[in-house]
Amino acid sequence: MSESGVRTLTDTFGRIHNNLRISVTDRCNIRCFYCMPADDVQFLPREDLLTFEEIERVVRIGVSLGINRLRLTGGEPLVRRDLPILVRKLAQIPGILDIGLTTNGILLAEQAQQLRDAGLRRLNISLDALDPEVFRRVTRRDGYEKVLEGIEAARAAGFSPIKLNAVSVRGLTEDQIVPFGQLARETHTIVRFIEFMPLDADSQWQREKVLFAHEILERLQAAFGPLRPIESAVAEDSMAADSGSLLESQKPSQARASLLPIVADSKAPAQDFEFLDGRGRIGLIASVSQPFCRSCNRFRITADGKLRNCLFSLEETDIRPLLRGVAEDEAIAQAMLASIVAKKEGHEINTAKFLQPDRPMYSIGG
Ligand code: SAM
Ligand code: SF4
Repeated sequence: MSESGVRTLTDTFGRIHNNLRISVTDRCNIRCFYCMPADDVQFLPREDLLTFEEIERVVRIGVSLGINRLRLTGGEPLVRRDLPILVRKLAQIPGILDIGLTTNGILLAEQAQQLRDAGLRRLNISLDALDPEVFRRVTRRDGYEKVLEGIEAARAAGFSPIKLNAVSVRGLTEDQIVPFGQLARETHTIVRFIEFMPLDADSQWQREKVLFAHEILERLQAAFGPLRPIESAVAEDSMAADSGSLLESQKPSQARASLLPIVADSKAPAQDFEFLDGRGRIGLIASVSQPFCRSCNRFRITADGKLRNCLFSLEETDIRPLLRGVAEDEAIAQAMLASIVAKKEGHEINTAKFLQPDRPMYSIGG
């Protein structure tokens, strides 16, 4: 409950949740190794997916509890038929200030304009490599050219700046960092490097495979000179102070002092940097080495209607029976409030207690 008496999705640590990430499908047209099994993926039966009307209802109830930002994800959201119709419905809900979408870009060339027209304003396109061969090794599918076409279509449709998400994996994507830096400098593109998280389908994740944000920054600085944090200040109170002791032992202490800015928007997971000459911007999402749990404002719903209060949550709340039964909106609101109250302080990746969730990323919604 806020001071004004309005109910909010506030957890026991005082974090207010205004950001709902909605998975619209668990299906996908590629098979990134860090997210999905290579073959024989068991997808949800179609009737298990929330309908557009059910999603709309969840969002309206969420808005009454303070949700004002949405992100559509999956699986690959663009394989969900008629997605622009859903975007339009959600964009029309009073109280929604922002709708974003995360996509692998393969179907974007066909849909970018329709999505824009429907009210989508923010788009993140996932592309882990500029080398087509490395793209293939990551995704285990073809499609690199289609992603590039999708990026161009997004630009043409008016999405600006284009944001690319690049998962960074040790032993695989190091050589992509500098070319991505070049791309950020030469085009109006923000490249956001994401640390590889333990959410793969085959439980192959190992800490040794995480290419840490500070290492990425060091490579970029070696190639292009210093980068400065945007709207940030190096401070003792950095979110990095939350990260586990394991991590601290892995980082060069000198790097720690110079590479740990706080972003002005303390809720944003990406730490943004710009090149000193003002040409180009990059982001680092240090989910493993510098968890941003302390400022987390995210709530999630899976494609089959399970509320998740954390990406790494081991428990979830199934609201599909409520949506498909005779439950009043208030019962669904109570389920949302209870899920948030049960939220833990952090995901504990950096502790021995960490347990990887049963659901891999594609079935949670990244
Ligand atoms: N299919 C869409 C896409 O790839 O953009 C949306 C869903 S995907 C699960 C959302 C984001 O999560 C993508 O940027 C993807 O690269 C990222 N992701 C998936 N598995 C990950 C992992 N194990 N660690 C870090 N990021 C991951
Ligand atoms: Fe599909 Fe996105 Fe997962 Fe890659 S990261 S397999 S594109 S859902």
